[in-house]
Amino acid sequence: MKASNFIFVVFITVLITSNTISAQIHISGSVEIDMNSGLIICDLNLSNIPKIKEYHILLNKGMNIKYFKNGQDELIRYNGYYDGKIRGEAIEYNFEIDSTAYIPEGFQITYSGAFPVYKNDYNQFDDKGIIAINKRTLRATEQTKWYPVIYDSENDKLIDSYSYDLMIGIKGGNTIFINGTAPKRATDAHFVSEKPFPLLLFAGNYNFIENHGDYILNTLVTKENAEVIFENIELIKNNLSNNLGLEFTDNIYLINHTAINKRRKGSSWGFNTYPTFAFTGLDFEKLIDADGKFFDHHFRYFGHEFGHNYFGSNVMSGNLGWFWLESFAEYLSYNTAEDLSGKQFLSEVLIGQLKYLKDDNFIPLNQIENRNEIGETYRYVLAPLMLKCFEDKFGRNKMNLVIQYLLEFAKNETLTLQLWKKSAIKSGIKKEAFEEFERDFITDEKFKQNIINEIVKNYS
Ligand SMILES: [Zn+2]
Repeated sequence: MKASNFIFVVFITVLITSNTISAQIHISGSVEIDMNSGLIICDLNLSNIPKIKEYHILLNKGMNIKYFKNGQDELIRYNGYYDGKIRGEAIEYNFEIDSTAYIPEGFQITYSGAFPVYKNDYNQFDDKGIIAINKRTLRATEQTKWYPVIYDSENDKLIDSYSYDLMIGIKGGNTIFINGTAPKRATDAHFVSEKPFPLLLFAGNYNFIENHGDYILNTLVTKENAEVIFENIELIKNNLSNNLGLEFTDNIYLINHTAINKRRKGSSWGFNTYPTFAFTGLDFEKLIDADGKFFDHHFRYFGHEFGHNYFGSNVMSGNLGWFWLESFAEYLSYNTAEDLSGKQFLSEVLIGQLKYLKDDNFIPLNQIENRNEIGETYRYVLAPLMLKCFEDKFGRNKMNLVIQYLLEFAKNETLTLQLWKKSAIKSGIKKEAFEEFERDFITDEKFKQNIINEIVKNYS
């Protein structure tokens, strides 16, 4: 989630809260929403929880727990109610089973909470962590922890992407959406996804437009304008799938959401809970130039985001998780930028990135021992430029093959530098040539400078 344009700075924060991991928690049960009172009642079951010893169960601080139960319908003792600790938007709860015990593999939780309904009035601020209800819509992102989110404190990791089987009912509304499946016009609806998603909930009284499985929700736009947006989305999806020879499978959701604070006219804020992109006052004129095309920086921005269709939770494991997840998505955005906006634009982007590399010290990938040693500048700037150098040495076709092989490996195992090498050799790159690249651009103590020199040589 990296974008040069200031409008998109807010998206960068999303990463921190929507980590994905390989263990897949499943959530099922019922959610009832009352748009008039702002009341939300949940009766949920979590299952397939990974074995975690040091954990907290995080739930929005406005939610009141009725009880936790185990699989035998017995009440589970928990703490956090008295003198509880707040973490972000949530209170931390723990089971009092035995201090050495792991979190149970599953549990049931029933709770409710009522949130303010803004009608003709405003809060002083709004952000992604607020459960925001106004006259027409309710917005509750994964960051609000409106549903129980597991925090793995040993690894400082939030687990908030779940597969789901949920019955959602709404009073005072007619449409319900939960991230990852199509919105439904109904007051009670069943939503099922086998693929895990962060559970962004968007419900209320609104219309939506569909095009080949992609949606715009709560839309104020004409059908003609929506078509223009969808044409641009198709361009990006086709660009990625043609380059990689792999079908684009995720449906994309654009939400026009409403801020609960009073906003300066023309200002906009948005967030991303992939594959949903939400903007206040969705204004298509801001996305599109006079010829009906996305502005160049939007092609690149969405190129990165849609790149997560390929590099998503499937690759987020091991010490180099951030590299596979974010650096490859960012690298793919270079190709989208080059193909849809032109070589000149890409050159400007690449050279423009170098200014971020001045002060940081970067550890070569083969010496990384802990996931967080790949910081934001590393994963969004330096490592994607390294991948660009790889493409420039061996050609786009070889690179695309390497990516295809890596994604094959990722189906069964954690990606490693050895698998990158194996994929390179399989693509027809000579072993010696790969090793030379590896020496100069991956493992060398001066690898950062070598990458900078190569980019300057090729693009300035
Ligand atoms: Zn990203």
